[in-house]
Amino acid sequence: MNIAETPPTERRRKALAAVKELGPQRTEQAVLKVRCPASHTVAAVYKTTEGPVVVSASGPGGRGSRDREATGHHGDKLDSEFVDTLEATQFEDDVIPAGCACGPRTLSRKKLQDAVASHTHVVNLT
Ligand SMILES: [Zn+2]
Repeated sequence: MNIAETPPTERRRKALAAVKELGPQRTEQAVLKVRCPASHTVAAVYKTTEGPVVVSASGPGGRGSRDREATGHHGDKLDSEFVDTLEATQFEDDVIPAGCACGPRTLSRKKLQDAVASHTHVVNLT
């Protein structure tokens, strides 16, 4: 995929498909995990066929289990999470929406890129 020439919606659709290909055991394949001070996993980066893909939880206030029916019969949790390739065009926002039980957070795409590039495996938020 040519990130620079792929529209963001198409890019995210491909990223989602690539993460789903990893299967239910994908947490073991995370190259980077982002944790809050209470050790919740806020986001994770996976190596996929489309390159590094970030998956972040929507946190409280996002679509909860009560709304699950609205997502259709497959009900994959990924559909309520933010999924995108770690790489993006320079014209896009650096902010990645995320959250955990402690509340909503925003992550810096650049900081996650730097963490992956430096082979950091866990980023602890403060
Ligand atoms: Zn938390």
